[in-house]
Amino acid sequence: MSPAHPVNTVNPENTVSPVSPVNPVNPVNAPTFAELYGRPAEGEWAAPGRVNLIGEHTDYNLGFVLPIALPQTVRAQAARRDDGLLRLWSAQGRELVELRLADLAPGAVPGWAGYPAGVVWALRDAGHEVGGADIRLDSDVPSGAGLSSSAALECAVAAAYDGLYGLGRSASELAQLAQRAENAFVGVPCGIMDQMASMCCRPGAALFLDTRDLSARQVPVDLAGAGLALLVLDTRVKHDLGDGAYAALRAGCEKAAGLLGLPALRSLEPAGLADALTRLPEELRPLVRHVVIENARVEAAVAHLDAGDLPALGPVLTAGHASLRDDFRVSCPETDLAVEAAVAAGAHGARMTGGGFGGSVIALVDTGRADHVAAEVTAAFRTAGYAEPRTLTATPAEGARRIR
Ligand code: ADP
Ligand code: MG
Repeated sequence: MSPAHPVNTVNPENTVSPVSPVNPVNPVNAPTFAELYGRPAEGEWAAPGRVNLIGEHTDYNLGFVLPIALPQTVRAQAARRDDGLLRLWSAQGRELVELRLADLAPGAVPGWAGYPAGVVWALRDAGHEVGGADIRLDSDVPSGAGLSSSAALECAVAAAYDGLYGLGRSASELAQLAQRAENAFVGVPCGIMDQMASMCCRPGAALFLDTRDLSARQVPVDLAGAGLALLVLDTRVKHDLGDGAYAALRAGCEKAAGLLGLPALRSLEPAGLADALTRLPEELRPLVRHVVIENARVEAAVAHLDAGDLPALGPVLTAGHASLRDDFRVSCPETDLAVEAAVAAGAHGARMTGGGFGGSVIALVDTGRADHVAAEVTAAFRTAGYAEPRTLTATPAEGARRIR
């Protein structure tokens, strides 16, 4: 099966007449839904990317996370089909992919279309009687930047299907179906944070999520009121070892939990850490130390937010980065330099966000210093010979919703 041949990807030999492939387009001149599919959309849904304030590599250990949704979203315009076909077009993927629902199976759809197709597969596999659809996707979530464009894509499609087919599923149910699409259909062993963030975040708040039972609390984050801004510095690097390394780290955490007789590392309290470490092989100790203390960092961060002491978040972020760099070892020279340069330029704190091996760094800064901090990080990158980072400002935005 060739990823270079997008039409009828699942079953190249099938008898369905292929839709003409759409040539690469300039997004400004991108075809409309009606131009693609010859009819209007029934509605449009949006789902955001996210940055995680703190709580990294804790979700698959059933611990705590604290993400906010970004204003940047994936949008899905969609209309139902009753002929068993799913047609997908993305202004970023720039190709029309036509799939037969009957052929959807884990691993069968290569490339970007696997994420939306996986959601439809997960819905059907869970017993929801949904048919096909025509879907047009567009996005301003940077892809592959650690800002979770993949979950935004899944959640936009999950919300669209929920609306189109009147399923009435809860946000957390749709998030779990979207995660299943990424785990089982695409084959990425991610935790639940990204999908829960994209589905459940609220404007002006961080989502304090306990990934063990998916209970969550919206914690107000009034950055502007505190005279603060959250810079997102996209290093534009994604180191290849990331994919395999993520699975290996996850396996290491699960192995450690097993050796300790625990269902997950979440069950280990900081008070029991020192003793637990003596019972583990040396190579697993730093992983466990990170996860246990990182969970405590999430609780500390929430306490600072509840107390309205936002600057106190800064050192928590920086300590979290040191742990990801030295213990969990998922940072890289570019993210380390961005953190170091941001803090040296006066940020209250900074850390890499997302799975690591590249991606983005967040920096908590006084509003008046935001430009200075961004300029200093850019200058440090230039000196190091790295590509110029892309800078966004994150304000806690709304989770997945219908927009039209
Ligand atoms: P992240 O989720 O951090 O952005 P991932 O590697 O998990 O990084 O997901 C990026 C992938 O998601 C892309 O390679 C692409 O396959 C898919 N993707 C994201 N946004 C879009 C989009 N707008 N159109 C098509 N595919 C997309
Ligand atoms: Mg992703």
